[in-house]
Amino acid sequence: MKYFAGIDIGSTAIKVALINENKELIGHKISASGSMFYKYAKQSLKDMLNELSIDTNDLVYTVSTGYGRKLFKEADENISEITANALGARAAAGDKCNIKTIINIGGQDSKAISLDEDGNVVNFAMNDRCAAGTGKFLDVVAMNLELEVDELGEYHFKSSGTPLAINSTCAVFAESEIIGLLGNDNSVEDIVAGVHYSIAKRIIKLVKRVGIKDSIYFDGGPALNQGLVHAIENELSKKIFIPEFPQITTSFGAAILAHESYQYERDVK
Ligand code: ADP
Repeated sequence: MKYFAGIDIGSTAIKVALINENKELIGHKISASGSMFYKYAKQSLKDMLNELSIDTNDLVYTVSTGYGRKLFKEADENISEITANALGARAAAGDKCNIKTIINIGGQDSKAISLDEDGNVVNFAMNDRCAAGTGKFLDVVAMNLELEVDELGEYHFKSSGTPLAINSTCAVFAESEIIGLLGNDNSVEDIVAGVHYSIAKRIIKLVKRVGIKDSIYFDGGPALNQGLVHAIENELSKKIFIPEFPQITTSFGAAILAHESYQYERDVK
């Protein structure tokens, strides 16, 4: 059996996805990017193959994507994360959902991608200037509230009433605002819900720049946060599709392209 890998070297996490000749997801691995992300990406791919007992020679094509993609010299090819995200989202949703809009929240940026009927990217909008509305903001909020980022969802659903308004549009000021809310005896749960609604409002503004078309797919690490999903759905008054592994859509898309490129190169020989 031949295998195809996609490596998404993100600002916060490295995601590796492996598919087989039938384009089935065989395994995936998520690790922190750190400062030596090129070295960690190589190690992560090696570890995943070891864990799955797959011989390196059976890995026939690798595509890198994400912010650090050009530094991963072992890749046969690299593609932009927008293209990889679109390919991965369409494949992950399959027949369950005809994706037209993708919301991606990463560690240090957020994106809205608009697709046509055939799954081609027709437009996209990106926020990579401000930490508010990114995973980094959620990490900082969790740290200030002495929580882990994967606990935020649970706290959101324990919020007693109207989520608190977080008015600052800058992550640095929002952090001070949150500390002020804590000092005024507001509950952690209500603050968490307020943060989720403030991110949801920002994301919807971004999505409106490309146009909101059904069906909507949400991915990136923060899509694991059910509280944030709930806030975005409420603000949009629409259900959104969350894949089984939201953090690896882009690496999965890169693996799909690896499969296609390999077939193409073999066919033209
Ligand atoms: P990038 O591709 O830019 O490196 P990711 O899509 O990997 O970013 O998202 C990283 C962010 O995902 C983290 O900053 C964190 O806020 C969030 N995250 C990661 N794991 C979880 C989890 N289990 N629950 C909630 N949020 C998470």
